[in-house]
Amino acid sequence: MTDERTYSDVGMKTEPERRGASDAFAYSATAETSPPPRCNLVWRASLLLALLLSAPALAFAVWVGVRGEGANRLLDVHDETSRTLMVAAAGLMAAGSLVFVAMVWLAASRERRQAEALTLLRGNREALRVSRDQLRRVFGSLPLPYVLAHLDGRIAQANPQAIALFGLDPEGLANTDFFDFYASPDFREELRGFLTDSGRLENFEITMRDAAGRPFWVLFSASRVEMDGEPLLFAAFSDITERKRVEQALQKNETALRAIIDASPVPVLLAGHESGVVVYVNQSAAGFFGKEIGKLTGMPVTGCWESAEQYAALLAELNTRGRIEDREVRLVRGDGRSCWVQMSTTLLRLQEETLIYAAFADITERKRKESELHRLATTDPLTGALNRRAFNERANDETERARRGGYAVSVIVCDLDRFKSINDSHGHATGDRVLKAFTAVVHELIRPSDALGRIGGEEFAILLPGSDAESATRVAERVRARFEESVIAAADGGTISATASFGVASWRPDDPFDNAVQAADEALYAAKTAGRNRVRVAAASPSRNVPTG
Ligand code: GH3
Ligand code: MG
Ligand code: MG
Repeated sequence: MTDERTYSDVGMKTEPERRGASDAFAYSATAETSPPPRCNLVWRASLLLALLLSAPALAFAVWVGVRGEGANRLLDVHDETSRTLMVAAAGLMAAGSLVFVAMVWLAASRERRQAEALTLLRGNREALRVSRDQLRRVFGSLPLPYVLAHLDGRIAQANPQAIALFGLDPEGLANTDFFDFYASPDFREELRGFLTDSGRLENFEITMRDAAGRPFWVLFSASRVEMDGEPLLFAAFSDITERKRVEQALQKNETALRAIIDASPVPVLLAGHESGVVVYVNQSAAGFFGKEIGKLTGMPVTGCWESAEQYAALLAELNTRGRIEDREVRLVRGDGRSCWVQMSTTLLRLQEETLIYAAFADITERKRKESELHRLATTDPLTGALNRRAFNERANDETERARRGGYAVSVIVCDLDRFKSINDSHGHATGDRVLKAFTAVVHELIRPSDALGRIGGEEFAILLPGSDAESATRVAERVRARFEESVIAAADGGTISATASFGVASWRPDDPFDNAVQAADEALYAAKTAGRNRVRVAAASPSRNVPTG
């Protein structure tokens, strides 16, 4: 219930004044017209009087007319003229009474209609007063600050919350221009325009100033209301200064973060999880792809990947784990070149949308160096054949696989014939050329799944997964023959040729691989003693010795 003392009700009638006016109106209406019961009494009495007067006169006139001579005698009237005058007088009296009755009835009807109209009017006034009181109670109970202002800006009413919010003087509201509290002159003009156009403004976030000039943020809604026939501006506020302060702090943080990410040397890419479309790339990422930011955003993220399958696999893993760190993947640049990147990616929930956040580093150079280091660590720099350690590792992997797969593995051990004398005759450099020529022949004749290793100075081993001793022997023979035919340019300008001897053995799944190498070595020794430039198969291997050379 509204407490009248809590209102600052300036420029409008106060509640007691309003009640007084209403009562005065009710009194004057009572004085001017009779209420319906009194009206009925007067016109009923008048009607009765008229009937009392008119009925005897009418009866007398009828009686005189009907009785004729008898009436004359009774009334002691002797001539016709007097009798006629008497009848006329009685008729006039009756007619006058009836006219009187009609006039009283007409007057009473008019008064009754006026009384009914007045009752209706009073009812409407009462309803208006009740609804205005209700409106005032609603206004008064609003938890938010509100102000009612005249269209020229003078404040008509402000609740205590508004008085506190704006630091108003409760006594001087009528002289306070509501528009002075708007910090922005533009908005003042907009509001004035709105007042003349009778619109509604809802949930505007604006800055206002209190009486001391302190700015603060409000959520502002306004509409025009009619009170006592006067259009007023009803404006409600919600103080959102604290929220705005937090928002602005966040906005600053966001701007700072955005600037940091934009300028980050680490390429960053954001893509819609649902849409699969790139929504953000920073400068570094644009530089990496060699494309403008505007051209990258909006494109399908799969366009950045060398293989759509690799992206799909990463996405599936990301959906399960939510985060993947330091994954080496291949992306494709704007010019079509693929390159290695190390990528960390995570699912990010931002403004109702799930995004894929990916930060990555170009590791193409590192990968190249790694690959080079691996090559140096596993191969012989002179010939490019695997070194002994790498050859053994490869042999272990292959025999393990062959044990599972149940297929054969064979090994050929080869040694250049009388190599020392080549060195001695043509020099070490020519010896190196012969070593290279031999590996070239081998690489040319073995399958990609086979492997050549340099296991000694001029001693090599060939691993042949999936080959039994027989097919390995055929390979060895082809190599022997081709190498024998090779013409090698000597370092001193001439040409030389050389030969090699070969021992073949088949690996037995129950034995260590070294046993097979040893068996092949023994077969090689046999080939050497048999005259060199020939192939021998280890005795245990299910294959005949191949007579050559
Ligand atoms: P055999 O037919 O019995 O195998 O006689 P061989 O002379 O080939 O065997 P030997 O073991 O007596 O000589 C091998 C020579 O290979 C000795 C060594 O100087 C030479 N050698 C080892 N590694 C290299 C190399 O990398 N470059 C060159 N040019 N020669 C090498
Ligand atoms: Mg030798
Ligand atoms: Mg040797």
